[in-house]
Amino acid sequence: MAIIVQKFGGTSVADAAKIRRAAERAIRMVKEGYQVVVVASARGKQTDQLVSDALELNPNPPKREMDQLLSTGEQQTVSLMAMALDAMGHDAISFTGGQIRMLTDSVHTNARIKSIGAERIHKQLDKGKIVIVAGFQGVDEYENITTLGRGGSDTTAVALAAALGAEECEIYTDVDGIYTTDPRMFKDAAKIDQISYDEMLELASLGAGVIHTRAVGFGKKYDVKMHIRSSSEETIGTIITHEVPQMEGVVVTGATVQKDMAKIGLVGVDNVPGNAAKIFACLANAKVVVNDIVQTEVSAEKANLSFMIGASDLAAAQEAVETIKNDVNCERIFVREDIAEISVVGVGMRTHYGVADKMFSALAKAKVNIDSITTSEIRISCIVDKDQAKEALEAVCIAFELDKPSEERSQAS
Ligand code: ASP
Ligand code: MG
Repeated sequence: MAIIVQKFGGTSVADAAKIRRAAERAIRMVKEGYQVVVVASARGKQTDQLVSDALELNPNPPKREMDQLLSTGEQQTVSLMAMALDAMGHDAISFTGGQIRMLTDSVHTNARIKSIGAERIHKQLDKGKIVIVAGFQGVDEYENITTLGRGGSDTTAVALAAALGAEECEIYTDVDGIYTTDPRMFKDAAKIDQISYDEMLELASLGAGVIHTRAVGFGKKYDVKMHIRSSSEETIGTIITHEVPQMEGVVVTGATVQKDMAKIGLVGVDNVPGNAAKIFACLANAKVVVNDIVQTEVSAEKANLSFMIGASDLAAAQEAVETIKNDVNCERIFVREDIAEISVVGVGMRTHYGVADKMFSALAKAKVNIDSITTSEIRISCIVDKDQAKEALEAVCIAFELDKPSEERSQAS
């Protein structure tokens, strides 16, 4: 029998009526002939509430105890869901992460899954039960409860779908799919029917917050078909899957804007072996995550180097580069916080020309100055002034016709 995994996010199980609705969806799939595994998050804002409860007692709570506490949110949902199913006349059984041997490493509050024991789930499914698994949690090799990082229930669901060989992993949420861009920034954004793992990974890491980035990584590694859809409507959402040939016909699948970032530049660093290594060793020591590193040689003696960081890391990063400044003979350090990054993503870029031209022309026409440009095989990003971020994004979305479903766009966009 084919297996389907259905994941319900916090807003989709926030109260009794919503839990019943989710339960009905599970029963419907059973009636269609599937074995159903449900993965659930904590109800509503429960996890946030638990975090603030903890902080009220201890501003720096031990991480092990944090996991012990946060995991209870999901445990409540799964037992309530099993009770709802029972009341609706359907056999169901709920499990915590530990009970299904969801083994993780010991990095409390941000653990990684190492293995999953599928046998216990299969046994219950074969008895005709709906199996409900608590998302976001596991246990380490010493039986300590761990959690997978905020938003981690998506990852539980996709990992389970992979371990069980499920036909599909449905992710029910409060939006009806992935959009070409954030509809709060560009109101005419269109829903995407189908997107590749690589595109979704780029979009998710650029801040398109609908799904946990790690879940997409799992999906890609184990080729799990993921379906992001609304828990309150019956519409088809967005399918995330491996690349299929028609995806190449769409040049740009989505656009993003990231605002909470800063840029640090080191001007006139000595152009000798080892200087980049010294600078980034300092940043690594300060635990700063660095992106979009650019180094250019300006003469035989000197080079300029710049990189992007999250705005919250700025103080630590600045302190780190100050300590190395003299050592690498840097003439000047400059910092920009008033910036935003506009990106376009699409696997079609690999085979189409003129994409960069179209993006830069759209920004030029909107009188947006480009500070710097970085690219990957399927992404082009431009740093612009923060106060022009919205108009920059709009200009780019219109140029690539991101207000239309992909099949209605003109061939060249
Ligand atoms: N309840 C956890 C959180 O709020 C995990 C999840 O919802 O995916 O982050
Ligand atoms: Mg979520």
